[in-house]
Amino acid sequence: MTANVATRRPDVTSDDEQNIEQCSKCASGISLQAPTTNAPASAWLCRRCGSCYFARCQDSDGIEAAGGVRPVSYYEVMKAIYVHMDGDSCPMLEKNARQTAASGLGRKYTGPETRKQKRFPCPAQVTIVPLGEDFRIAAQPARIMTTNLSGGGVALVHTRPITQPYLAIDFAASGIDLLPAILKVTRVRQLPSAYEIAGKFVSRILH
Ligand SMILES: [Zn+2]
Repeated sequence: MTANVATRRPDVTSDDEQNIEQCSKCASGISLQAPTTNAPASAWLCRRCGSCYFARCQDSDGIEAAGGVRPVSYYEVMKAIYVHMDGDSCPMLEKNARQTAASGLGRKYTGPETRKQKRFPCPAQVTIVPLGEDFRIAAQPARIMTTNLSGGGVALVHTRPITQPYLAIDFAASGIDLLPAILKVTRVRQLPSAYEIAGKFVSRILH
């Protein structure tokens, strides 16, 4: 006779469970959850006001439509964002072109584990999108430089301080073969003529 092991959720770390139940822009009800290392983010639009969230569906399989939001392609979000970046071409489109050119030669992404020990050439140019506490896009994107990049986190130099708790970081402009990720900002430090922003990656963003 085997003891009946009670059903336990295997990887719940309590402080990672964060429901997002109201759009912080228009106050309509939405059903999203904070992304985690094991539950990556994808892009969602508030059905009422069009605000974009990098979060995850409250249903773990992510198939059921989430209340109050609709899924949207990451590429569409980034293309829309680049319309608002003056004099800048869309790295999504450049990356597509590069990938097409290099098809067959490109390495396949194999998950964050393989990145842990890697360090990448710096400085590299990345695009940051500031996110609020609820993972809603909360400020204009910016193209800035990394000073230190590893699989676990990154340090960046920016002309302005960052006040948002999270950043979506897109590596397409850098030529580095990394999926976009969400960074939790852990330090903002004033340098003589800029700000250093450092943080750790908390989630990938699915395309
Ligand atoms: Zn809304």
